[in-house]
Amino acid sequence: MTIVSIAPTIEKPLVDTDALLDFRNVAMQFPNGTVALSGVDLTVNRGEFVTVVGPSGCGKSTLLRIASGLETASEGTATLGTTRIGYVFQDATLLPWRTVQANVELLAELGGQPRRTRAENARAAIELVGLSGFEKNLPKELSGGMRMRTSLARSLTLDPELFLFDEPFGALDEITRERLGDELLRIFAEQKFAGLFITHSVAEAVYLSTKVVVMSGRPGRIVDTFEVPFDYPRDPDLRFTPEFAALCGDVSHALREGHS
Ligand code: ADP
Repeated sequence: MTIVSIAPTIEKPLVDTDALLDFRNVAMQFPNGTVALSGVDLTVNRGEFVTVVGPSGCGKSTLLRIASGLETASEGTATLGTTRIGYVFQDATLLPWRTVQANVELLAELGGQPRRTRAENARAAIELVGLSGFEKNLPKELSGGMRMRTSLARSLTLDPELFLFDEPFGALDEITRERLGDELLRIFAEQKFAGLFITHSVAEAVYLSTKVVVMSGRPGRIVDTFEVPFDYPRDPDLRFTPEFAALCGDVSHALREGHS
């Protein structure tokens, strides 16, 4: 998992002050002719946790890269309502020679934050992700889940208003993945950032989100959107209820239809 700090260009002020991200008719064609996205309209408001599910190669990462400002859409507009953005990738790229504390301080250090402030902020973030006591450990001494927590803490030091997640739990086993999902929801509730989360797991999408967006195969289009009616905090046993299974079934159905 990699986290980068980014200050994307804001194309125009948003009229709707609740919208932290607004895609209007976004399309993406790469110079080699590959069309990755077509006619995407998507809004992420404050308080929302929006998850995008879609088949491999449909353009999910491209969508996130456009949201972060790392790519520019070839058509349409992608507008941000904040410059405080956290970006969490699937692959862990902690600096191996740095301790947990020093890795978590990295972005603040690059941003020129004074030593004492960044040390305090890092300690608070480490506590938030449940890693207190491991500050002096090196990445090689951590499990995959703990490395992910470290990266999450590093991004949290930026105090993001909008958090972009590109399959952050994709490489983890199911139990760790579910536990981190619960932790992420707790932090989401405490820190009040908005989330845009990419996954290909329908159950993960439904469990985490306020809204699930289903994309078609490439070029990725939004084929359906589902509001998730379950209250937060979510009980892990929600996953075993008929209502949860029914919504997962509807999302899976839309996914299959969009892929055919
Ligand atoms: P996903 O995240 O849904 O798996 P991606 O957004 O990574 O999909 O990729 C969507 C499509 O765009 C794929 O066919 C991929 O090969 C292609 N693609 C991604 N980045 C580039 C690029 N820089 N140049 C050309 N094609 C690309």
